[in-house]
Amino acid sequence: VTDIPVSELALNPRRGGPKNLPIADYFVDDDDCSENKAIKHKPKLVILGTGWGSVALLKQLHPGDYHVTVISPSNHFLFTPMLPSATVGTLELRSLVEPIRGIVKRVRGHFLKAMAEDVEFSEKLVEVSAPGPNGEKQHFYVPYDKLVVGVGSVTNPHGVKGLENCHFLKDISDARLIRNSVIRNLETACLPTTSDEERRRLLSFVVSGGGPTGVEFAAELYDMLNEDLCKYFPKLLRNEISVHVIQSRSHILNTYDEALSQYAETRFAHDSVDILTNSRVQEVKPDRILFSQKDEDGKVVTKEIPMGFCLWSTGVSQTDFCKRLAAKFDNQNNRHALETDTHLRLAGAPLGDVYAIGDCATVQNNVSDHIVSFLRTLAWEKGKDPEQMHISYSDWRGVAKRVKQRFPQAADHLRRLDKLFGAYDKDNSGTLDFGELRELLSQIDSKLTSLPATAQRAHQQGQYLGRKFNRIAQAAPGMTLNQVDYGDLDDAVYKAFEYKHLGSLAYIGNAAIFDYNGRGFGGGLLAVYLWRSVYFAQSVSFRTRCLLAMDWSKRALFGRDLMNF
Ligand code: FAD
Repeated sequence: VTDIPVSELALNPRRGGPKNLPIADYFVDDDDCSENKAIKHKPKLVILGTGWGSVALLKQLHPGDYHVTVISPSNHFLFTPMLPSATVGTLELRSLVEPIRGIVKRVRGHFLKAMAEDVEFSEKLVEVSAPGPNGEKQHFYVPYDKLVVGVGSVTNPHGVKGLENCHFLKDISDARLIRNSVIRNLETACLPTTSDEERRRLLSFVVSGGGPTGVEFAAELYDMLNEDLCKYFPKLLRNEISVHVIQSRSHILNTYDEALSQYAETRFAHDSVDILTNSRVQEVKPDRILFSQKDEDGKVVTKEIPMGFCLWSTGVSQTDFCKRLAAKFDNQNNRHALETDTHLRLAGAPLGDVYAIGDCATVQNNVSDHIVSFLRTLAWEKGKDPEQMHISYSDWRGVAKRVKQRFPQAADHLRRLDKLFGAYDKDNSGTLDFGELRELLSQIDSKLTSLPATAQRAHQQGQYLGRKFNRIAQAAPGMTLNQVDYGDLDDAVYKAFEYKHLGSLAYIGNAAIFDYNGRGFGGGLLAVYLWRSVYFAQSVSFRTRCLLAMDWSKRALFGRDLMNF
């Protein structure tokens, strides 16, 4: 198998595809090379993105089974759970990133620092763009046999005006900008020419969004202001500084157990962090934020806070690239993510060619369809009209058993449905009608399709694909073999993906909370050490672990670096 040098590719590009672009074919099979050509012929695996999903997949793949090309505008992997700590200098930016080339090297692959723009599914070509030597955008195709889309998500603007006046926290460059901006405000506030009113504005920090990212950033900021400000900015008065969190729901951290979110709110109240619940941002002006707030009587009033800094952290939405892919298929109906089947194959794309993982993907749920069709069969067996039939608990148990055999990954949801069956049995007759059942199923569907957009899920999906691709390589060496030859290869060699929730953590300012399936605990220093240990253990390499340990020790000994450059 020949690996074509880059220089030769540039000089003699093969052109093709609908746009007649150069085709960057890094890996070409040597026709004469093998007495057993099927084994020598390796499939081209193209992975888009270098985030949690893609890196978990790369770490799982056996080297040598595939010709791997990784394409991403980021040439590093970012350990996002600790990113809020880097915004205020608790951790250094470099301690959270791992160069991707080292990870790609293990599987003897290529890395291209470029953006995927589109996919020609019929010709198995990814259209890619990258800035050329003079800064102009160059487009070319990369061919694939298998394509994995792991491009993550973008911050959701929710149609709010003035977001150019906000900071975002998605990437390492965002953390650097935030750090510089916070310190610039502190420095300007110290100048003798700054009025009292202007100083209070500069020292008013607003976080829009009370989810884990917004809360962790507010906590880190509060820690920094509390612990290092008196030391380095003795002229600033602590009571001139304010931190506000604006949250649209009635509690912050609303995906956590209610007791934990209340614990976090109490902690923040004690630390004088202003939590504004039932509030929606209307507009962000350069010097103030306008928002509406619902009071206890349900009356909506408009308010404003003068501010010198605003972080926008209100959830995620689909990238333009994913919107472009979704628009090519009739059965992609989810506005927030690419839909896949339970084998993580992109719905609508040729079977076994294209997969989507992580924040950019959601698993299509057809478990409900099967429950309904099993129940219909049952109705016909009993000679009844399915729409009129009342479903008894024992009918339901029988159907649940059959669905579980067909979809072992739905076991958890069937258990929940079982509990809900009891709750819906309003008239104690031990039966449900079809209408009630559909209502129940739609509740379960929305839970199943909205698996959390977390590193945990992306990681599990990446690992799952890695294991499956290893199996496929063993079962079908030289797989340009397609489903016509092998049927549903994915289904034949490996089980469907099943998400296992291992719990959620959040740092809330010298305290941390842990939530595991509705049970959890929150606590002070001990919990913080536990929180650190979990992320320390999950950190991507020995190098980043050493850097993290050094950062924590440095901060304990010398405090944070409050410099901007
Ligand atoms: P990402 O990790 O976002 O990676 C996407 C990759 O695709 C990037 O490399 C990007 O450069 C690349 N890309 C984008 N567009 C293209 C394109 N067109 N072509 C090619 N490549 C492209 N989750 C947790 O479970 N626990 C936490 O504590 C936690 N804390 C977080 C804190 C912060 C500040 C943030 C921002 C997120 C946090 N998350 C946490 C969520 C978690 O980071 C995401 O769920 C996870 O990163 C998703 O992984 P992914 O592989 O889908 O995408």
